[in-house]
Amino acid sequence: MIQNMETLELQELELLTQISGMLTSFDQNRVLKNVIDLVMRAFNVEQSSLLMSGDNGNRWRHFSLRQQFQTGLLRLPSTDEAYKAAQKIVNEGLAGWVIQNKQGVIIHNTAEDERWVELPDFPLGAASVLSVPFLSDDTVIGVFTLEHPKPGHFTEQHLRLMTIIANQVAVAMRNAQLFARMQGQQKQLEAFLHAMPDVLLIIDDMGQVLLTNSAGAALMGEQNREGVIGRPLRAFTHIDTALVMIVEIVDSPLQSGQNWSFEVRSEQRKRDYLASISVWEHQSGTGNAGYVVVMRDITQNRDLNRFKDEMLQMASHDLRSPLALIVGYCSLMQLDVDPDSKVAEYLGIVQQQTERMTGLLDDLLRVEKIRNSPTELYERVVFRDIVNTALNNMRPAADNKSQRLRAEIKVDGVPPLLINASLIRESMENLLSNAVKYTKDSGNITVKAYTENNRVNFVVEDSGIGIPADMLPRLFNTFFRARQAGTEDIEGRGLGLSLVKTIIERHEGEVWVESTVGVGSRFGFWLPIT
Ligand code: ADP
Repeated sequence: MIQNMETLELQELELLTQISGMLTSFDQNRVLKNVIDLVMRAFNVEQSSLLMSGDNGNRWRHFSLRQQFQTGLLRLPSTDEAYKAAQKIVNEGLAGWVIQNKQGVIIHNTAEDERWVELPDFPLGAASVLSVPFLSDDTVIGVFTLEHPKPGHFTEQHLRLMTIIANQVAVAMRNAQLFARMQGQQKQLEAFLHAMPDVLLIIDDMGQVLLTNSAGAALMGEQNREGVIGRPLRAFTHIDTALVMIVEIVDSPLQSGQNWSFEVRSEQRKRDYLASISVWEHQSGTGNAGYVVVMRDITQNRDLNRFKDEMLQMASHDLRSPLALIVGYCSLMQLDVDPDSKVAEYLGIVQQQTERMTGLLDDLLRVEKIRNSPTELYERVVFRDIVNTALNNMRPAADNKSQRLRAEIKVDGVPPLLINASLIRESMENLLSNAVKYTKDSGNITVKAYTENNRVNFVVEDSGIGIPADMLPRLFNTFFRARQAGTEDIEGRGLGLSLVKTIIERHEGEVWVESTVGVGSRFGFWLPIT
């Protein structure tokens, strides 16, 4: 108990020392319980209350409501009623004054001070009270009130001491909260890493594993991550062949901004991975750096791809022969029947549809062939020449429909491009033939070729029927046709644009379209100048 001025300072110091000892713990609940206990004993009070605000600072609740000699800390339930009771004290009671003024206060006689309102907080009735805020970042996060049944119990000395204690406790609580938040985030990261199916490896500039996840540990033949962390990645290449190429990169000198993406195979597991490696560097330039490696299991994709290739092979060989036979037999049968008979008509339809199926098969195979075409076949060609060839090839079709075909070519100074010339020419002709097809007789078609930002652009503008906006996103899909009134008689299989997209993307370029129904369309693509 703190009694008179002579002994006060020593006791004060003792109390503060005891409290700062308690504050070293990060267990917030235990710290508060012990501090309250100690203060109540030192100040010889019988009741205390601690109100705490929620995370957002406006949802108050009682952390403790305590009477002396009662063992344990009374933690009030987090019910709506409990919140409402606490809110009432904050709004109407002394706590509200402390929160607003951000300072402690003594009421020597509650009967004479209108700041004191009798609320269910203190069931025994209080004649004098001392209340202090817990301040963190200039915000009141808690209000601690001590109460005594007799008037005039508290002194300025008490208030001074209690303010110091409250400040210390607030700092400790803030630290504990930060620590708890950090721990929470750490746990979240752990859970995320654990659940992640891809292999994740963070490697330092010495080639040592800084961090990995369960999938990573498993790949390296370890039960848990601890068995891997701190060890050089190269120590695991004998466990899994998938790591060999990765080690070659992470053991080489760091080059900022570089990324790698390649496929690797684990002979041990019989699985294929897509490995992506990038360089990481500490933002604050501390010199810390290394590699982030992510390995995605693509075995299933590969198997599906293989299956698709086999299906296409089958389609090309096994389906084409019977279709050719059907067409052949139809022609033979037509020789034996009256050309004006119904049978001849039906045979004609069978033959026509069978040829259509063969055409579809050919188209499908063509798309696949382009998708997998080797880039080694690329040659250096002058862009202007390909544009001119495409224009010359398509001019007769435009003339046939009395359409005006104009060209604006501004590609002077563009170095010869490394491309597959016949495929690029085919793409241009495809866009041009569509413009001719989907534009009425005597319409206008303009071809533009120009350079911009290290790219060459090719654009075909027409004054044709245009395309409804909702169909634009699907226009480049294989076999998609934007069916609309007026196009019923126009022949097509919906494959041209998908071929153009495949070819251009194979060249690391991009296709685009803009269109307005009844006004016309603009189709274009760009290719990088390398
Ligand atoms: P196809 O012309 O053989 O049907 P494409 O893949 O070349 O196939 O084109 C897909 C669809 O896009 C066409 O069916 C047509 O509806 C629309 N389209 C393409 N080019 C134009 C254009 N210039 N004007 C209007 N519609 C077009």
